[in-house]
Amino acid sequence: MDRPALGAVEDLAELANLDEEILLAEIKERYSRNKIYTYVGDILIAVNPFKDIGIYGKDESQRYRMSKKTAQPPHIFAVSDAAYQALLGHGGRPPGNQCILISGESGAGKTESTKLIIKQLVELCKGNTQLERQILQVNPLLEAFGNAQTVMNDNSSRFGKYIQLRFHSGQLIGGKISEYLLEKSRVVRQNEGEENFHIFSYLFAGVQQADPEGRFALQDPSQYRYMCHGARRLKNNLPVLHECFEELVNAMDMVGFTDDDQQDLFTVIAAILHLGNVVFELDDYDAAMVTDPNGAVKIAAKLLGVDSEEVASCLTSLVTVTRGEYVKRAYSVHQAQDARDAMTKAVYGRLFGWIVNKINQLLAPEIDVDPHLMTEIGILDIFGFEHFEKNSFEQACINLANEQLQFFFNQHIFKMEQEEYMKEGIDWTEIKFVDNKPLLDLFLTKPIGMLALLDEESLFPKGTDQSYVDKLNSSFRKNQYFTKSPQTTTAIFCISHYAGKVTYQAEGWLEKNRDTMPAGIIEVLQSSTNALVKTVFRAQITRTGSLALQGRRSTGRVSKGSRQRPIPSASDGAKRKLTVGAQFKTSLSVLMERMTAATPIFVRCLKPNHLKTADNFDEKYIQSQLLYTGMLETTKIRREGYAVRPTFEDFVSKYKILMCRLDLKGSRDNCVKILQASKMTRWHIGKSKVFLKYHHVEQLTDILDNLG
Ligand code: ADP
Ligand code: MG
Repeated sequence: MDRPALGAVEDLAELANLDEEILLAEIKERYSRNKIYTYVGDILIAVNPFKDIGIYGKDESQRYRMSKKTAQPPHIFAVSDAAYQALLGHGGRPPGNQCILISGESGAGKTESTKLIIKQLVELCKGNTQLERQILQVNPLLEAFGNAQTVMNDNSSRFGKYIQLRFHSGQLIGGKISEYLLEKSRVVRQNEGEENFHIFSYLFAGVQQADPEGRFALQDPSQYRYMCHGARRLKNNLPVLHECFEELVNAMDMVGFTDDDQQDLFTVIAAILHLGNVVFELDDYDAAMVTDPNGAVKIAAKLLGVDSEEVASCLTSLVTVTRGEYVKRAYSVHQAQDARDAMTKAVYGRLFGWIVNKINQLLAPEIDVDPHLMTEIGILDIFGFEHFEKNSFEQACINLANEQLQFFFNQHIFKMEQEEYMKEGIDWTEIKFVDNKPLLDLFLTKPIGMLALLDEESLFPKGTDQSYVDKLNSSFRKNQYFTKSPQTTTAIFCISHYAGKVTYQAEGWLEKNRDTMPAGIIEVLQSSTNALVKTVFRAQITRTGSLALQGRRSTGRVSKGSRQRPIPSASDGAKRKLTVGAQFKTSLSVLMERMTAATPIFVRCLKPNHLKTADNFDEKYIQSQLLYTGMLETTKIRREGYAVRPTFEDFVSKYKILMCRLDLKGSRDNCVKILQASKMTRWHIGKSKVFLKYHHVEQLTDILDNLG
């Protein structure tokens, strides 16, 4: 047999010869011809083109509608189509929930892929509803508040998200978003070459519309400490950013945020900018006091709807009650600065939570559907693996999430599948894969995983970042994935992740994990006359870190008009607050539960170079990504394996019509009869299931179609 030309094979699982070099050469050749998508069986590989390749128009959208996988070239729209068809129960499996898992490094194209998948899903079930238009605008809205320019990506998502689209009889009836770990610290500090969340630049560019009366008192962006790196780019890009501002307002209108909601949001953003400019110095008694030449604290307090004296006081001192007596302890300048930044981070974090919550209220299914009749497609767009010069607590959490995702991938692609072959007595040569379970254990195990130790140290009054690292060093002395730093003066340690070795700086971890704010600050914010501020600070934080706002469900999808406020929950605060690590751990396990209950579809995004440029294929870089994601092994198992495995019952009930016998029982013999009648080869029959390859299902569907 002739070997097909390089780059001509659209499904790498069809390659006769396989090794690392061949995989790389095939992907490279396809990429050079702008064929950025390639299949590995049912998995889609996507290489970021960093340029517009004009393949997402009406034509393509039409072509990938109820299409057969092999009939069209690989495409991200085919993923939507496959998920939607599977949701409806087309193909070999019964109808049910689907989840699409998109992985890849920062800047590899996950978020763009997510948007394209959603766009095509909406096309597929098009009912031209208001809900569909709302859903399409959710992304621009979330991105304004949750994305920022970073070294890795000009539009980097600084939070993870799981979007659940809900269906009833194939019709879209609602949506829900879960967010993971917004990088709040970005509000107060950005690394060299990076910027604050987009919203801050948008607000400056659109300030005339957002604040016609000048209440925000915004000066030149270069005047604001929280804007330090973004100010110059802002000035050079005003027209573009102004358009972004208008797009945002449009998105908020479409999703259903009222004018009041929008005003409240912009007001809080402006308040944050002023708050960042509050500065301190020591008074004659060695206590921090606010020095406020430009009236920053007054403007910030006014915009937040709180008393400026109270703000100044809670930023410079801590009041505690000891044996019925109030004791006021003055802060140092450094402590006061920390309090100010903690306040800003809390306000921004809660604001983001409120936005997500509001979106969820507006997208909630209106009709009361029997949950058994409701199906969903979930799409996971989580932050990619991160490895910077300095890696902190945020990177540890992000990388843990990626470990978890890789583990889930391995479970599905390798473990469960091969176990099934064994159980069903299929003749099978085991394909080995790199199991990252030990890494998950290193982070998550009780009582001595990294997160548990961090919690322990965070609650221990004398705990420090260094004492935490000391505990890690002694607990994981024998763990091959953990390396103690030879430096003993700084709190540093190394972890060998599946995607590479990362050095972590533990400085500030205890504080980040506790994420506490002095009670005084919370009380001040709870007393706010700004409805939004008051609401979010009276809300409870749930186990998974989201805001528990009790809101009425929206009635009628009219975007303007009735002002609805979530009702704040009554009691607050009494219980001990969960640490950030504990919340994250819970939300990860909730996510895993959801994903386990659905049929997964995997999209692997690859980043072709570090420079974010088009037509630039860095072989080494791509090779390393192929290697750590186990792509060679994946291709092998997809080549040898059986992607579709219906039970005898399901198989016979689906295809009995081929035998023109509607009374056929779901037995092994009957399966064999049908398979023989279909004249297909290379299928297998197990103890309770039929083992089929993808093309088998397509062939069977063809035969069915021809009958009909
Ligand atoms: P991630 O979410 O993985 O960090 P993004 O999806 O934000 O990465 O992609 C980073 C950038 O790469 C985008 O802003 C866009 O410029 C470019 N990009 C990604 N996917 C595509 C695509 N399919 N076509 C054109 N450009 C793309
Ligand atoms: Mg992203």
